[in-house]
Amino acid sequence: MTLIRSWLPAANDAACPFPLNNLPCGVFSVAGGAPRCCTAIGDKVLDVAALAAAGLVAVPPGTFDAPAWNAFMAHGPALWASFRAELTALLGEGSDSEAAVAQHLVPLAEAALHMPMTVAEYTDFYASKHHAMNVGTMFRGAENALPPNWLSIPIGYNGRASSVVVSGTEVRRPWGQVKGPDDALPRFAPSARFDIELELGAIVGQPSSGPVTVAEAGAMIFGYVLLNDWSARDIQAWEYQPLGPFQAKATATTISPWIVTAAALEPFRVAIPPREREILPYLEEALPGLYDIALEVGLTPEGGEETVISRTNYCEMYFSAAQQLAHHTTSGCSMRVGDLLGSGTISGPEKGNRGSLLELSWGGKEPLDLPGGLTRSFIADNDTLTLRGATKGDGYTIGFGEARGKVIPALEHPYER
Ligand code: MN
Repeated sequence: MTLIRSWLPAANDAACPFPLNNLPCGVFSVAGGAPRCCTAIGDKVLDVAALAAAGLVAVPPGTFDAPAWNAFMAHGPALWASFRAELTALLGEGSDSEAAVAQHLVPLAEAALHMPMTVAEYTDFYASKHHAMNVGTMFRGAENALPPNWLSIPIGYNGRASSVVVSGTEVRRPWGQVKGPDDALPRFAPSARFDIELELGAIVGQPSSGPVTVAEAGAMIFGYVLLNDWSARDIQAWEYQPLGPFQAKATATTISPWIVTAAALEPFRVAIPPREREILPYLEEALPGLYDIALEVGLTPEGGEETVISRTNYCEMYFSAAQQLAHHTTSGCSMRVGDLLGSGTISGPEKGNRGSLLELSWGGKEPLDLPGGLTRSFIADNDTLTLRGATKGDGYTIGFGEARGKVIPALEHPYER
C-alpha cells in the first residue's frame, strides 16, 4: 500500500500521522462551540457533521446529530466503506470539491478533542504472554506464572464504561484498601504503586446476540484506540483473588481521541504467533488478526523532560481482538455498538518492551533511572504518562495520536464534604 495523495500538502508528508490513508474518527470543538464529529487530515480537523449537512457526503439523516460515532457505526460496514471512499475522493489530489471542503477544515492546533464515542460497555483482557509471565512470576512465582487456563482462554474481566476518559484528562491517585507484606491488617491509604498498562482498545461497531465466529467478530470491529488501563498495584494485589481486579482498575482508563479504523489498518495485518497448545475450534482464526503497530510510553515528571520508558508492538499479543470478541459471545453475552475491548497489557520479550511500570521496575526492585537523578518504580504525583502508536506504510504513517494523562495527588481527606 502506498500513500494516497491529498491536495492538502501536510497530509502527504511521510511522517504525518494523518495522511489520506488514515481518516481516523474523532470529536472536536473550537472555543465556545459545540463538539462535532470529525476526521483528521494532515494538520487539520475536517468537520464531517458540516460536510454531511452541506450534502458533500451521503449519510442517513441524523448520523452526526450527536457528538459521537456510535450512530455512524450502527449503520454498518457498507456505510463505513462508502463514507471512507467519499472522503478519499473529496480530499484526494485532483478533487473538484477542494473549495467546498476547505470551508470545513480547522487547524488541529486550535481544536479541543473529546471522547470519540459513547462507551457502551468496557471489557479488559490479559492476552500478552510476556506480560502474563512477568506479572505471574512476581505475584505467584516462576513455577505458577502462567495460569493453567491461559493458553486456552482469552482471559478478561468486565470493567466499567464510566471509567473511560479521553486523552488529556487528569487522573487522581486513588485511595483504596491495601495490605502489604508487613501489615498485620489491611489499611485504607492512597495507592503507593499506581501504574500504567499500555494497551490497544478495539471498538465494537456492530451489535450481536448469541455466539459469533472469529470471522464474524472481526467484521464487527470498527477500529482501534490507544488505551491506558491505569492500575493500582497495591490495591490489586490484596483484592484480586478470587474474582479478579475490581477497584484497582476502576479509577480511570484513558483512550486516544482518534479511532483508527480497521479499514486503515488492513494493510498491516500480522498473524497471531504459533499456538503453544491447541486451541478449541471456535477460537481458530483464518485472517491474520493482529497488526504491526509500534507503541511507546513516555514519562514526564512535573517540569522535566520526557523519557520513553517502553517500546513494544501490538503484534506481541497471543490472542487477537477478534478472538477475544468471539470468546466474549460464547455465553450468549450480547455486544453493543460502542463496546470497548482492551487488549491487555502489551509487553515484548525484552526489558525495554514491558508495558507497565510493575514489569519495568520488577515490582519496585529495579527502579528506572530518569534524567536529573530521578528514579521511578511507580508513578509519582504530577507525572504525565503518554502512550503513542503508529504503523508505517510505503511513504506514509498511520498515527493514533496520544493517550496522555497527568496523575494528580490523592485527595487529602476522601470522605470530607
Ligand atoms: Mn489491563
